This record gives sequence, C-alpha cells and structure tokens, in this order.
Amino acid sequence: MATVSLNTVGKTYGEGVQAVTNFDLKIRDEEFVVLVGPSGCGKSTTLRMVAGLEEITSGDLLIDEKRVNDLAPAERDIAMVFQNYALYPHMTVEDNISFGLKQQRMPKSEIKTRVADAARILGLEPLLARKPRALSGGQRQRVAMGRAIVRHPKVFLFDEPLSNLDAKLRVQMRAEIKHLHQKIPTTTIYVTHDQIEAMTMADRVVVMSNGKIEQVGPPQELYNHPDTLFVASFIGSPAMNLFPVTVDRGDGGLQARLENGTVVTLPADRQATYGAAVGKKMLLGLRPEAIGEAGAYGYGDLTTEIDYLEPLGAETLVFFPVGEVNACAKMPAGFTGHHGDKVTFSLDLSRMHLIDPETEKVLKPGR
Ligand code: ADP
Repeated sequence: MATVSLNTVGKTYGEGVQAVTNFDLKIRDEEFVVLVGPSGCGKSTTLRMVAGLEEITSGDLLIDEKRVNDLAPAERDIAMVFQNYALYPHMTVEDNISFGLKQQRMPKSEIKTRVADAARILGLEPLLARKPRALSGGQRQRVAMGRAIVRHPKVFLFDEPLSNLDAKLRVQMRAEIKHLHQKIPTTTIYVTHDQIEAMTMADRVVVMSNGKIEQVGPPQELYNHPDTLFVASFIGSPAMNLFPVTVDRGDGGLQARLENGTVVTLPADRQATYGAAVGKKMLLGLRPEAIGEAGAYGYGDLTTEIDYLEPLGAETLVFFPVGEVNACAKMPAGFTGHHGDKVTFSLDLSRMHLIDPETEKVLKPGR
C-alpha cells in the first residue's frame, strides 16, 4: 500500500540546469503512472528523485504521506528496474534475484519462498541456474524485474526498461509488465519516451516537456482531449494533422479556410468556444482517422492529390498535401490510388481541435 506525492518538486543541476520545475502529482495506491516526453524533458530526473538517486532541489516528496526527501534510497522501500538491467554477470539468475535479500540478512527460508514466487510469476523457473550471458534480452529483463519484486517494495520504478529490446520483444514485455501489475498491484512509476508504451500501459499518463508537466490524464482522455499543441502532436501515431487555418463568420456560422483554399463549416456546438478565434490564424487539429471518404461527414469536403499510400494490412494510410502540410488519412484496407491522383476526403470536424499557435493551447469551453 503506497501513495506517492510530488509537491512542487524541482531539480536544478549544478549552477543552472533547471531539469524539473514545479512537478505536482499525487499518485494513488496501486496506480500505474507513466511519465512520457521527448529526450531531455526531465523524466529520468523525476524518477531518480523519487528513488533517492538525485537530491531534490525544491518541494516535497511524500511516500504514504511521509516526507522522504532526506531518506537514503534503501530506506524508501522502493525497487527500481533500469534500462541496462544492471545484473551481476558472474552470478546465476537465482543469486541475482536473491542478492538484495541476502544483504538484508533475511532468513533463508523466506528468501527461498520469495525467489520461488517471483520465478513462478515471471516464468523464470527453468533459468534459475543460468548466468546472465546465457539469457536473451527479454529474459534478462525478467530477471531484473524478479530482483525488484522479491523485495516486496511499496513502489516500483521503471526507467525505460524496454528500450534495449527489439520491437517484437518490446510489445511482449509491455504485456508482461502489465500482467505483473495485475498480479502484484503495486504503485508504479514508469518512464519512457515512447508514447505507444505510455498509452498501452498507463492508468494515467503524465506528458512532460521542458521539465514541466504538460498534461496528466488517462490515455484515452489525453488522446481525445489534449490541452496543448504539444500533447496534441506528441500523442497518437500517425500524428494528428495540424492544418493552418483562418477562422471567420460565414452564413452558416463559423468557418475555417485551409491553406489550399478549402472552406469548412465548424461544428454548431463549438460556435461559442471558437468565437474567440475569428479573424485569427489558428491550427485545426484532426487525427488521421477523423478523415473519411467524400460525403461521409457534413462539414465540407477537401479535394487534393494523393502523394503516396502506406498499406498496413488492416488499413491504408493515405498521404496528401494541404498547402505546406503533408497530411495523413487512415482509410479502409481496400483504398487504392497512385501518386498524383485527384482525391476528395470528408473531414469529421466533430473530432477537431482548434489550437492557438501563439499560446499553444487548445481552445476549450470556458477558457
Ligand atoms: P529525460 O529522462 O526526459 O531524457 P533527464 O531527466 O535525463 O531527461 O534530463 C533532463 C535535463 O537535465 C536535460 O537537459 C539533461 O541534459 C539535464 N541533466 C540530466 N542529468 C544531469 C546531470 N547529472 N548534470 C547536469 N545536467 C543533467
């Protein structure tokens, strides 16, 4: 049982590298939280401050409501799994897993039970006598997790644990870590730069940029209701299309003019919210799956030329220019066409986002 609270936590390295600023988050007991963002945004620093591997420059860190800023890592009751696994090469799997417990002078019978439990949960039983060099990348990763779970910590910390694995194994280990969390529901903070990993694993995703939290929420909420340009473009693959538009009032209400001259009608229920954008240059954000075949939606069609197709099997991505933007639509698998073919799409603007490029905020009701 553990909650973890970071209250306006900040980190300055040396004289002036402000790596993390005002990080404010309360993590619930048993919650799986993923910190995600591009390289250098402060994810690892945040995690290492929770682990006690970096000193906290400002703010408070609480585990179960108790301030732990000044506790040594070993006193925080946490276990961390690193990217490079940090296994001892000369020890067997069993010794690697039990090493920390032996150091704590835990009774032998208890160590045996814990190692057996971990080996069973992680499918490591046939490998206990092997040395790390005789293991695959995925198996090494599992040993590193075994070493963490035998400690029965209050909190698990993962720092990019899958980045040394190939794509297929990454998908498999992603599922294994999720299963592990279901079997042993322990409060978890997981760091990755991979937004798909974040989306698929997290109860709540924390998107970071430049040392600050951009937005926190369940994966689907971030996907459907991003607050900022950064979150809108960072979450989702292929990325959200961002069309530069000018907004004005037409006979049928507010409308947006795209760079290629296409005019679309903005949804009736957004008129109050989008009124503030009249006369301004904005970005109209629309995910590839919100673009369909001609006539599918009633907001106005977009005629352009196909640039190229990417057939993915279950669906086909269609790339096409709109002004300077290389846009993408997700079409059914049977979609065909060639470079230069004229094509008309329909835009489902009920799923659009209007973003002010100056403030980089998504226009939302009441703000
Ligand atoms: P991320 O994990 O998101 O890639 P980090 O937390 O590693 O980001 O780094 C955040 C910022 O802090 C970066 O600008 C990085 O260069 C800087 N930084 C990280 N570690 C140190 C350090 N030991 N000394 C000085 N600057 C550091």
